[in-house]
Amino acid sequence: MNVLEIRDLSVDYLSGGGAVHAVADVSLDLRRGEILGLAGESGSGKSTLANAVARLLRPPAAITSGSVVYRRQDGSSEDVLALGRKELRAFRWKELAVVFQSAMNALNPVSTVGAQIDDVLRIHRPGMSRNDRAERAAELLQRVGISADRRRAYPHELSGGMRQRAAIAIALALNPEVIIMDEPTTALDVVVQRDILHEIRALREEYGFAVVFITHDLSLLMEISDRIAIMYAGRVVETGGARAIHTSPRHPYTLGLLRSFPRLHGPREQLLGIPGTPPDLRSLPPGCAFHPRCGKAMAECSSELPALDGDVACLLNGGRGLEDAS
Ligand code: SF4
Ligand code: MG
Repeated sequence: MNVLEIRDLSVDYLSGGGAVHAVADVSLDLRRGEILGLAGESGSGKSTLANAVARLLRPPAAITSGSVVYRRQDGSSEDVLALGRKELRAFRWKELAVVFQSAMNALNPVSTVGAQIDDVLRIHRPGMSRNDRAERAAELLQRVGISADRRRAYPHELSGGMRQRAAIAIALALNPEVIIMDEPTTALDVVVQRDILHEIRALREEYGFAVVFITHDLSLLMEISDRIAIMYAGRVVETGGARAIHTSPRHPYTLGLLRSFPRLHGPREQLLGIPGTPPDLRSLPPGCAFHPRCGKAMAECSSELPALDGDVACLLNGGRGLEDAS
C-alpha cells in the first residue's frame, strides 16, 4: 500500500532566460514503511523533487503540473499540493518530516536540542504535560543514540554526527509516516554515515515510517534501501528493488553510476564510470537526455524521448533497456 503517490510532477525554475525544467513528469510511489533511495548526480532533480513533495519550494521554483497524494492508513487521503498554509504546518510534522543535508541549518543555534523537541511537542500536542514532553524528548534522543543528559546541549556543542542524530530525533517527534532525508550524512565521515543509516533502518523497524533517502552515493543506498529510483536530468530513468538494480541494472546511466565513485563535493564532477558531465538543464539534449554520454546510444536516441515504461526509460531492446547481465 502506498503512502505517497507522485504523478507526472514537473517543477520549473523560472529565470530571466526562460524556464529550467528541474523535474519533468516524475511519477513515483512510496510504499508504506519502505526505504526508497533516490540517486543521481548533482542537478538531477533529487532535492527539487523532495522539496516539491514536502511543499518547501521557493520562487523562482514552481510546480507546473502533476499531483502528490498522501494516503493515511485509515484510508483517508490528502492532496498535498492543495494544502493551505495552516494545514501544511501540521502535515509537515505529523505526516511527513524532512531532515536536511546540513543539520546545523535545520537546528536552532540558540536553543538546546531538548528544547527544540519540546517546542515541536508543545505546539502540535497541546494536551501533553510538561513532564510527558520532557520524557518524550529524552526517549527520542536516546533512540537516536544521544544520552538523555545531552538534551541540554546546544547544537554547536555537538559533533556533526550528533547534530544529525538530533535533527532525526526532532523529525521523529510526532511519529510521521514519511521521513525525507536529503543527503543527511554527506558531510560526515563514512563510518559515522553508515552507523546513522543502519540506525535509521532500525528505527524504521520500530516506528514503521517510510523513508525517502536522497544521495548520489549509490553504494550506500544499496545497503539501506528496499527500492531505488535513479534520476537523470530531472526525470526518473529507472526504478527497482535495491538488489535488482545492483545485479541487473537496465539503464546505461544506472550501470555507469554503479561503476562510479562519485566525489562527495562540488557539482558537475565527472564520474569515473560515465564520460562527460550532467547536461545543462537550460538546454537539454533532444531525445534521451543521456545520449551524449551513453556508450549504447543508437540513432533514435537523439530524437525519441524514452518513456518510463515498466521500470526503465531506455530505448534499448524495444524499451526494456539493457539485457539482463546475469
Ligand atoms: Fe542510451 Fe539510448 Fe538508452 Fe538513452 S535511450 S540510455 S541514449 S541507449
Ligand atoms: Mg541535492
